[in-house]
Amino acid sequence: LARNLDHLASLPAETADGHRVRLWVNTGLMADVVRSLERGAEGVGLYRTEVPFLLRDRFPSEEEQREIYREQLQAFAPRPVTMRTLDIGGDKALAYFPIEETNPFLGWRGIRVTLDHPEIFLAQVRAMMKASLGLDNLRIMLPMISGLGELETARKLLERAHGELVEEGYDIAMPPLGIMIEVPSAVYQARELAAHADFISVGSNDLTQYLLAVDRNNSRVASIYHALHPAVLRALQEVVDAGHAANTKVGICGELAGDPGGALLLVAMGYDVLSMNATNLPRVKAALRAVRKADTEKLLQQIMGMHCPEQIEETLRAYMKRIG
Ligand code: PEP
Ligand code: MG
Repeated sequence: LARNLDHLASLPAETADGHRVRLWVNTGLMADVVRSLERGAEGVGLYRTEVPFLLRDRFPSEEEQREIYREQLQAFAPRPVTMRTLDIGGDKALAYFPIEETNPFLGWRGIRVTLDHPEIFLAQVRAMMKASLGLDNLRIMLPMISGLGELETARKLLERAHGELVEEGYDIAMPPLGIMIEVPSAVYQARELAAHADFISVGSNDLTQYLLAVDRNNSRVASIYHALHPAVLRALQEVVDAGHAANTKVGICGELAGDPGGALLLVAMGYDVLSMNATNLPRVKAALRAVRKADTEKLLQQIMGMHCPEQIEETLRAYMKRIG
């Protein structure tokens, strides 16, 4: 699979028997954009807006944000770009907005910060919507959602911002609003959340950390951070089933989507969108094109019957070796 990946950019992302999957990219910097387009990305599944915030020494103004977001949206248009609202806290600290906590991953993170500071949220979504003027490819996504109330509050703020822009004379449609599923409580409410969201996308990095209670950045426990842990796989399957039961498209934008073996399992589960670093896209596409959907389903069924993460990893490794 590692050979001749360049020609893949123009070939469709589909299995050997024609099952199409959307392979999108995760971005943050403009450099990611250039690389992504070269590799034939069909959209952005996660634009991490905290990246430009981390590179500055103060909050960027609404106008500065508009310019940054416009560049991303314009470069990908007409392809969809999923912009995530600010996801700070946890391991991502802004020097000009210090958060001191003993347990930051269980603390003031993601949507919790921006709902407590609606002025940050409003400036951000106003800038995104203004940036999308005439392009119509913006989707907005909320990080660290743990219950329906957060989604409802955020939607009200978004509607307020949209209404104000329309009053100011901007001719902009309401963008689709989606959420990340990365907190275990969201897995158990996935059906209701999906019914109230325009799309859902699993953040498997955080979801794995929270399901297994293993800090994703702590090297001492790295050997028990298993992206393919049976409990994680079960949660991933439940989320996609819940989303589809609510007629909502389901994506994933954690690292697992960029691992060719992991990607095949996600396709078998029924994921509609896999979003990954551009670097991994050609390898994932090559793996996808090398298999039939029914084969991935057989593999998934076999793996779902296993209880030991190491056995799952070994089975997947052997399978990937077999398909070349
Ligand atoms: C995730 O948690 O899987 C995710 C995509 O978000 P981040 O890695 O930015 O926390
Ligand atoms: Mg996350």
